[in-house]
Formats: sequence, C-alpha cells, structure tokens
Amino acid sequence: MAGLRWGLVGATTIGREWMIAGIRAAGGEIVSVYSSDAARGAAYAAEFSIPSATTSLEIMLREVDAVYIATTNDRHREQCLAAAAAGRHVLCEKPLATRLEDAAAMVSACREAGVVLATNHHLRNAATHRAMRDAIKAGRIGRPLAARVVHGGALPQHLHGWRLHDVAAGAGVIFDLTVHDSDLFRFILEDEPAQVMTIAQNGGLASPPVEDAAMTLVTFKSGLIGQVYESFTTPFLRTRLEIDGTKGSLVATDCMAQRPGGTVVLRHSGGEDGIALDQEDYYARGVRAFEAAVRGEGRPVATGEDGLISLAVALAAQRSAVSGRSENVQTLSEILS
Ligand code: NDP
Repeated sequence: MAGLRWGLVGATTIGREWMIAGIRAAGGEIVSVYSSDAARGAAYAAEFSIPSATTSLEIMLREVDAVYIATTNDRHREQCLAAAAAGRHVLCEKPLATRLEDAAAMVSACREAGVVLATNHHLRNAATHRAMRDAIKAGRIGRPLAARVVHGGALPQHLHGWRLHDVAAGAGVIFDLTVHDSDLFRFILEDEPAQVMTIAQNGGLASPPVEDAAMTLVTFKSGLIGQVYESFTTPFLRTRLEIDGTKGSLVATDCMAQRPGGTVVLRHSGGEDGIALDQEDYYARGVRAFEAAVRGEGRPVATGEDGLISLAVALAAQRSAVSGRSENVQTLSEILS
C-alpha cells in the first residue's frame, strides 16, 4: 500500500536528524518542504532529495496528504489550522503550542475537519517505556505509588538558538522536556496528572527569564506522586526512569533519548530480572502508527488530545515556578469546554 504524501513544515534540525528518515522508513513520501526562507528551503530540499521547496504553505497544502509541523512552537497553531482547513492530516511537534487556547483550537479544528492530529511524543515508542507499561498492566509491581524521571544532559551547541533565548518562540526546558516527561508518565501509568509544583533554574546557559533546568513534583488522580528533573546544563547526567509499586520497582537507565537504547530491570521479592526489549526507531514507529490512523486503523501513538494535556502540565509548571505554589492541571474536558 502506498504511503502518504508528506509536506515538511519547517526546514528544521529535527527533520534533518530524525524525521525525514523516520517518515521514509515508515513508507511515507516527502514531496515538499516549506520554509519562510526560500534559499534555506531550496538547499534543504536539495540536501534531502525532496522534489520541491516553497515559501507558500497554501501551495504545499495542495500537493500533500499530511504535514509534519516542526517550526518554532509559536507557529504551530496557524500552520495546523491552515492544514485542517485544507483537509490535510497533521503530525505536530511538541509542545503543540505555547498557549492552551491555541492548542485547543488545533484539536477542535482537526476534529471538525475530520483529519488526524497527532503529537510527536516519540518517547512513547521506546521499547524501555513500552515494557514498563506492559509490566505495570500485568500487575508485576503491584500498585504503583511513585514515579521519577531524570531527563537531561547538555543541549548540543547547534541547538543554542531560540530554545535558550526566545520566549515568544516557546523557549525553555519546560516546553522542551517537561511536556515529554509528563506525557510519558500518563502513557506508562495510565493515570492523569492533577497538580504540579515546580522550581525552575537558570544555570547560566539560557537568557533569563528562560529556565535551562527544572525540578517538578506531580500528583496524579490515583494518589501516585511523581518527581521530574530536566536540564540542558548537566553533560554527565545519566537518564533514568523509575516506577515504584507495592510489590516491585521498575528501573530504566539511559532511556530518555532520541536514539533507541537503554535497559529495564524489575526488582521484586525474588531478586532482580532484566526485561528483554524489542528496540525500533522511535520516530519511524510513530509515523507508521500515524499512517495507519489515517487509513482508519487505530489511533496515533500520541493524539492531539495527549499533546493538549502535556502542554497543560507544562503551563501549570511554568505558573508554579513563578507563584511558588502548587498549580492545578486542567483536565481535557475543562480545556475543551
Ligand atoms: P530548528 O531551530 O531547527 O527549526 C525551527 C525553525 O527555525 C524552522 O522552522 C526554521 O524556520 C528556523 N530555522 C531552522 N534553521 C535555521 C537557520 N539556520 N537559520 C534561521 N532559521 C532557521 O528547531 P528544531 O528542529 O530543534 O525544533 C523544531 C520543533 O520540533 C520544535 O517544536 C521542537 O520542540 C520540536 N522538537 C521535537 C523533538 C522530538 O523528539 N519530538 C526533538 C527536537 C525538537 P522555517 O520554517 O522558516 O524553515
């Protein structure tokens, strides 16, 4: 079966490093790239053998079945609404937007247009995280009571642009990583975040008031408590994800990355067992599920609604970092009402 005809919205790093290969590995055909800069778009198209480059989103939308939106976070809304109005399916980068009302408008527009909207929360595709979710569902740690994630490192030099300095574009570690981590907790635990309390840090890399690290406490509907540390500033950090339950603990190491990898161990009364993992490219897996959803076979790995909730958590974390208090996370029905 022929794959979708894709347009890339934005001549981006994430496309260059992961998503062009991911779309092609999943059977998609990239027919066009949109960039606000004609020369950069043309050079990008030539570098990746993409047949056309354009500075007109309208023209691109005539030629494609689906778009992958990966511009800076402030531009996602307008581009998503244009795609929905043209009847095109949308795979959008996280955070879906910088304001909840923008992300809600994206979800509503895609629902009304009858097109698929997915959020590129790639960490749901990691074999480590899928194995943890399966183990919890199978009751192997009893009742989950606590979750912790350590997610950071050194932000690569070539990403030291808007992410560190441009508030309007959606800078900061909270928009970059807290959205992923809160989404991952929801995916693995099948639980909903209720409140967050965040301390943000500027360790000297980002331009104040942008944070380059953050520590967040999360409470969930079930009563489970979570802890999240994210950073752009700690080059020797090893990423970890741990879930502790009444009968066991799951510990994943080196698991919060773009490249498949990491290990998972289950600790229980009988000792410690490694869990066998079936690794696969995270981005290609996400695109494959998206293409299937467009054909009416199942749902995307992370929907637009999932992206709305991860953004709600990030915005609550930002509010908490300023207020010094815990902040409520709106539910999906509160956001969309
Ligand atoms: P980039 O900085 O590479 O691209 C963002 C925008 O910046 C592009 O749309 C492009 O504008 C412009 N741009 C790119 N290169 C240049 C340049 N050399 N000079 C001037 N402008 C340039 O961003 P990323 O690829 O890092 O991130 C894009 C999106 O993807 C964000 O929403 C981010 O949060 C998300 N992301 C998601 C990841 C994931 O794993 N899910 C990982 C990394 C990022 P134009 O549109 O005009 O071409």
